Amino acid sequence: MKQKPKRQRYYTFMVVPHDPEGKTFSLRLPLLVVRAAVFLAIFSLFLVGSSFVYSSILSRRLVHYHKAIAANRQQMKVIDDFSQETAKVHQAITELVQEDNELRKLLGLKNWRSKIKLSNKKEERSEQVTSDLVAAEQKIAEKQESLSELKEWVSQVRLRYANTPSRWPLYGRIVSRFGYRIYPWRGFHTGLDISGLYGAPIRVTANGYVSFAGWRRGYGRTVVVNHGFGKSTLYAHCSRFTVQQGQQVSKGQVIAYVGNTGYTTGPHLHYEVRENNKPVNPVAYLDLNILTASKIWRR
Ligand SMILES: [Zn+2]
Repeated sequence: MKQKPKRQRYYTFMVVPHDPEGKTFSLRLPLLVVRAAVFLAIFSLFLVGSSFVYSSILSRRLVHYHKAIAANRQQMKVIDDFSQETAKVHQAITELVQEDNELRKLLGLKNWRSKIKLSNKKEERSEQVTSDLVAAEQKIAEKQESLSELKEWVSQVRLRYANTPSRWPLYGRIVSRFGYRIYPWRGFHTGLDISGLYGAPIRVTANGYVSFAGWRRGYGRTVVVNHGFGKSTLYAHCSRFTVQQGQQVSKGQVIAYVGNTGYTTGPHLHYEVRENNKPVNPVAYLDLNILTASKIWRR
């Protein structure tokens, strides 16, 4: 059977002007073309729509991305600032260590050896900051230990100083020095003679306890004070004393009054300083402060 040829279907589009003189415009198009045009129109509408949606999503994402970058930059800056601060802390600690060691050197103490090593390996910036901070914390703890050691040392020094003869027992003229002499008696003079008015107060030159308060031949009324650390002081020719044997006395306390008991040519104080009961020149002990006193201790 012969097939009937398919009849082409057409659509005509007409543009009719309202103006009577205007030309009528008509366009005759096959159905296929019309369908293709409709399809194209819908497809391009879809394209435009979807690209609009897509670009709005994209732009929103871009905003997020920029925000994230800004936040990241901010965090980096914070880490940088932090790292700079940490470096400053390290610098301060290093200076502290130097000062600590200088102080130790001045005091004749050994340098403090740090047990903390700073690692040199490359790390992430934030990890570096953290490890630096941990090291700083440890170093500070170490310094606190060192400082408490120094504090302990200082308190010992203060105690030692309090027990070291360091002042004049009586302010007056030195009329006879320590050592060999001819006047008023030939022989070795075991102390200093300091002139003073009869009854002038005599002050003990360091903390200690009275190991003797009584009469001694030649010395007259005498007070001996034991200061510990092998040191003692003796005050002779007193008119009277205000302390008893065994009594604790503190530096500067009045223990006796100037007199002329024993062998004297007039009222004065005979002052002795003894190291392990051996008389030494008291001049070295007349004006000591906590720093100069340490020179005496090393002898
Ligand atoms: Zn004397």
